Amino acid sequence: MEFIFDPKAIENVKRLIADNQVFAITTHYNSDGDAIGSSTAFAEVLRQMGKTVKVLLPNDYPAFFRWMYGVDDILSLDRHSKEVQKYIASMDVLICLDINQLSRTEDLEQFFTQSNKPKIVIDHHINLQIEADVAFSFHKASSTCELVYHILCACGYEKYINKHVAESLYTGIMTDTGRLDYSSNYPEVYNVMGTLVGMGINKAKIHDKINNVFNYDRFRLQSAVMKDNFTYLPDYHAGYMFISNANKREYNFQLGDSEGFVNMPLCMRDLKFVALFTEYEKGPVKASFRSKGDFPANEFATELFNGGGHFNAAGGKYFGTLDEAIQAFKDGLEKYREKLVK
Ligand code: 5GP
Ligand code: MN
Repeated sequence: MEFIFDPKAIENVKRLIADNQVFAITTHYNSDGDAIGSSTAFAEVLRQMGKTVKVLLPNDYPAFFRWMYGVDDILSLDRHSKEVQKYIASMDVLICLDINQLSRTEDLEQFFTQSNKPKIVIDHHINLQIEADVAFSFHKASSTCELVYHILCACGYEKYINKHVAESLYTGIMTDTGRLDYSSNYPEVYNVMGTLVGMGINKAKIHDKINNVFNYDRFRLQSAVMKDNFTYLPDYHAGYMFISNANKREYNFQLGDSEGFVNMPLCMRDLKFVALFTEYEKGPVKASFRSKGDFPANEFATELFNGGGHFNAAGGKYFGTLDEAIQAFKDGLEKYREKLVK
């Protein structure tokens, strides 16, 4: 799959960058490797150009990204509210990465909307809903990180892709493709990874830092959730699991601890669709969905859980109790029975 960018869009990005000084980069709530990787990479490129730049997040990033270059400079609304608002008031341009709706920045959205500055969007979700001055929306791309790489090259900014930028971009491609399990069945993504590895990044070190970072509590949480909180519904080729507030207390839950849980039941041959419901002290129940093959997880998430996402990996929220969320999921399975059991 070749990514062909509108030359006018590339010119517009270059002009917006050349004509302005203060940049804010933002991405989605509960940021993942692609969100943090693309943001820190773009920030480092702009910094090398002499620009003022900050990555602004709605909430803190998981501890397992703490090794990444540039993360110390990130501001999150939940921890640095005043600074974030002050920076937004001073910014010239907003760069939105790995989001198709501004509402994915949760409580940050209101401040971005008020400031109404020019926006650049780079994203790989379907159905872009951000009004932007320049937008690159390619839902077939492996990751936002891969798109950022292609766009930086198209702008003639290759010289700013140093080892730090390469590490960030590699991390996003690697995590968003499940270590190349999915969303990567075309040559370009390997060409990009090859180029990044060729820049001398330590691939084994990155994989180790992302994958082998958890403590004993997290390992026990995983075992408990799989053993006690997972229900298989073979009639629907589906299953669900949950993490309650009580589980969080018992296992000293930290941000990012449930990363990867929802994918685990996919190793069951006959399972096509799986959900993880996470309870919060405040706010709605968070839902994560994964599917295999032709079951549209994003359609299910959009229709029933105020969410969206990719065809096989989606998410959303449920405004109610954990039990009600699970009941809504089961009702949803009945509604989607035909697509699940065909
Ligand atoms: P995760 O299950 O890892 O939290 O999210 C998987 C994918 O689902 C994300 O990459 C994102 O595309 C999508 N997603 C997750 N939560 C939401 C949500 O609340 N709203 C929307 N529109 N998409 C979501
Ligand atoms: Mn992504």
